[in-house]
Amino acid sequence: MNQRTTLEAPPPAAADELNAFRMSQRQFERAVEYVPKFKSGLIDCFENPARAITVHFPIEMDDGSVRTFTGYRVLHSRVRGPGKGGIRFHPDVTYDEVQALATWMTWKCSLMDLPFGGAKGGVACNPKQLSQNELRRITRRFIAELGDNIGPHTDIPAPDVYTNAQTMAWVYDTYDAMHPGCDNLAVVTGKPLHIGGSYGRREATGRGCVYATERILSHGIVEGLDSLKGSRIAVQGFGNAGSIAAILYQEAGAKIVAVSDSRGGIANDEGLDITEVIKFKEANGTVVGFPHSQTISNEELLTWDCDILVPAALECQIRHENAPDIKARLICEAANGPTTPDADVILAERGIHVVPDILANAGGVTVSYFEWVQNLEHQKWDLDKVNRKLQKRMYDSVDDVIDHWRKVNSDERPGRNGGADLRTAALALAVERVAQVTLDRGIWP
Ligand code: NAD
Repeated sequence: MNQRTTLEAPPPAAADELNAFRMSQRQFERAVEYVPKFKSGLIDCFENPARAITVHFPIEMDDGSVRTFTGYRVLHSRVRGPGKGGIRFHPDVTYDEVQALATWMTWKCSLMDLPFGGAKGGVACNPKQLSQNELRRITRRFIAELGDNIGPHTDIPAPDVYTNAQTMAWVYDTYDAMHPGCDNLAVVTGKPLHIGGSYGRREATGRGCVYATERILSHGIVEGLDSLKGSRIAVQGFGNAGSIAAILYQEAGAKIVAVSDSRGGIANDEGLDITEVIKFKEANGTVVGFPHSQTISNEELLTWDCDILVPAALECQIRHENAPDIKARLICEAANGPTTPDADVILAERGIHVVPDILANAGGVTVSYFEWVQNLEHQKWDLDKVNRKLQKRMYDSVDDVIDHWRKVNSDERPGRNGGADLRTAALALAVERVAQVTLDRGIWP
């Protein structure tokens, strides 16, 4: 049953080009042209989320003052299973952004064949200006406000931008306090190892991104580049996804020629020593100023001379203004929604392939799924097992997308042939799977 309840009417969507939800809708509209006709109106029900919750709550700050915060939890679909998706703490969090991120989670879980629907949450706040105690109070109150709208079999949060294993420990503890006597570990993933977390979850998004890139290259779709060895890579965003992807790309034989964080970027055409850059960032709070590097802006990083560009920060970074200047031959989206639909068209015309977010960064939710399974079974898998299973899932899904991309661009399939990029093919496959399940379950009632 696709439940539709809105506890509080969300604000109306802005119509501008950089609106993340509008972006997700435009991608969806493009993909639907390549989805077989099911039943009239069936596909339309995926255009909007099944449920959206907006909460406003007061928090007592360390100085004794009180501030009101706004949070969202959007469940886009639970047709294939309970909702799954991270919680983001960022000053720019909006209802539309969370809605877009929840929608992408539905397609991502479907593409990876995980038994989840899509969800996402966020609180508009600036963690850089908040103490640990304030962050803990915000997390607890937000989770308390969501009440039974999250749960191990209804909607399962995880980390996202500016939230981490510590935040997830607070999420678990709050939910557990509200549901005493129950087996609650599986209510959230990305937890610390000693509180039901999985080996490999922290590294999963970056590691999955590297597996996806190497598998894509092995298909020979990027002329003159069939492996990571010797490739030159630029990474935008040096947090969980970006820094771990960078170090694993380096271990796979690539040269990381530029990286950046919110304060700016650094470059060295001879290659940056990523282990040292990570230590430098830990000590100084930014990569900027790293010895033997040239300081560059985030905008320059995106158009830096490299083979592979890995956006690993926020949405809407690659747009129609900078897409014509991108020098990379392959873009691997560790972030969610970093490329606008207008930029997609320009990149496709220029023959630059984009490994879409719903594939490239799916390692995170895949190991979150492994964590959920381990929690439900009271098991702890070793790191080798987690990474082997992750690699197989990533390789299989890349192969599925490549097969589907070739299929929708061939004459075998009736309808619109030719012109589908990897994102469109991946989305078409994901939408088709969700539509099939919806139909097979039967439209409620
Ligand atoms: P994080 O908070 O660990 O890191 C974010 C990084 O981006 C930081 O280095 C920050 O300095 C940088 N950044 C912020 N604004 C920037 C800007 N304007 N330009 C350049 N850099 C900027 O977050 P994360 O978990 O690594 O998430 C990054 C992206 O990956 C997001 O799009 C997120 O949705 C996506 N993602 C994360 C996971 C996960 O498991 N953490 C899973 C899938 C997708």
